[in-house]
Amino acid sequence: MGLRLFNTMGRSVQDFIPINEGKVGFYGCGPTVYNYAHIGNLKTYIFEDFLKRTLTYLGYKVKHVMNITDVGHLTDDADDGEDKMAKSAREKGQSVYEIADFYTKAFFNDIDRLNIIRPTISCKATEHIADMIALVKTLEERGYTYEAGGNIYFSIDKFPDYGKLALLDRQNLQAGARIEVDGNKRNPYDFVLWFTKSKFENHAMIWDSPWGKGYPGWHLECSAMSMKYLGRHFDIHCGGIDHINIHHTNEIAQSEAATGEKWVNYWLHGEFLVMNKAKMAKSAGNFLTLDTLVEKGYDPLDYRYFCLGGHYRSQLNFSFESMDSAKKARTNLKSKVQELMSKTKCADRNSLSDAAKQYIASFTADISDDLNSPRALAEVWTLLKDNGISDSEKLYLLLDFDKVLGLRLDVPEKPAETVAEDIPAEVLELVESRKAARKNKDFAEADRCRDRIKELGYDIKDTPQGTICKKL
Ligand code: AMP
Ligand code: ZN
Repeated sequence: MGLRLFNTMGRSVQDFIPINEGKVGFYGCGPTVYNYAHIGNLKTYIFEDFLKRTLTYLGYKVKHVMNITDVGHLTDDADDGEDKMAKSAREKGQSVYEIADFYTKAFFNDIDRLNIIRPTISCKATEHIADMIALVKTLEERGYTYEAGGNIYFSIDKFPDYGKLALLDRQNLQAGARIEVDGNKRNPYDFVLWFTKSKFENHAMIWDSPWGKGYPGWHLECSAMSMKYLGRHFDIHCGGIDHINIHHTNEIAQSEAATGEKWVNYWLHGEFLVMNKAKMAKSAGNFLTLDTLVEKGYDPLDYRYFCLGGHYRSQLNFSFESMDSAKKARTNLKSKVQELMSKTKCADRNSLSDAAKQYIASFTADISDDLNSPRALAEVWTLLKDNGISDSEKLYLLLDFDKVLGLRLDVPEKPAETVAEDIPAEVLELVESRKAARKNKDFAEADRCRDRIKELGYDIKDTPQGTICKKL
């Protein structure tokens, strides 16, 4: 069985057939760098990494492009709200460029720690303004735009396919439209391609354009940059499910209107990470970062394991109990691989037994079945318990499967707890109390211990290697 993927366009599992044999062009919407990515965002990047690793495992050469939204965009997808970057810059007393630079680095640090393979090309929106302007010009020449109130809009009434990804009901679009705030729009679903009239005075990021100084609408960058690096027609486009209705719908409209051709063959969307039944979101304030998990004593790869334990198209419910189980399972798995590494040599692929080959076939079938990561993980545990497979074959298979799982099973786990020397007894006691409090999930007490440690002139840092205590 070849690779089969659930295509949001068509809402069905379909055979994956690449445009060019053996190669895949793949675009994933990247982060808006005005804050840390939350672990919900990171779930989506882990799913995309699993897809990329699966494609590579199956022998495809993958070109992966991801944008970095550093131009800032509005807090609401529908051209409304405040500019997120400007808001963050104002709150932190820094320039928008400093904010973007800081959070771009933080993002790459997060994905590196999660063993997410970096994109082949990651491209900043601010460095592609000319490409975006060129795209708007093409749309203008082809009659898809209008100017109103100083802004350039995309007219969805000119594009009969509008809404095909979101399955929008074209007949009733006007009647069922969301509450409209921008009276310049001819159709409430029209969207801004280029803003010259900012609602915010002194908008920091503006560029010259044929329509006056301004800045791009936020859907524009993904169309312009994906087509620049992957061509007018490419294989796969990914993101979270929140992007189906507006962002990806508008990306399709402006790309296909500009080229007159089909743009993307397969649309894959990851379901949400939820916490206490609500979607994890920065705007709702209910979000955790990877650093928070590390501070609480988890390895970033515990979170990766936790995410792989659910299918990317299922909602994943975050809880510290589930994280504890993931941590236990991951460290257990790693220690088993380490044990095998210490006592046996890895088998050779060419001399595997039929039983071992059967494991490769099942693992390949799991990941080819719309990226079934939970089944792939289960396969690994079945293999470990299988007495019919030699240790050296097990080791070969586990390291081979880890190319897709990305759990760094071959890297030894670091020692558990390290405390620097010459720490007063009172501080050491507090370190221990904090450890106990965290074990009991009494995070308030753990924080109190940390505050007291600080008052005594020491600081503690929780790292994947353990807790480190240092003089301030
Ligand atoms: P943003 O930086 O807001 O554009 O989000 C980056 C990626 O994370 C996008 O693909 C979103 O669809 C995705 N995303 C946002 N919130 C969540 C969530 N709670 N769970 C999973 N993915 C999410
Ligand atoms: Zn996008």
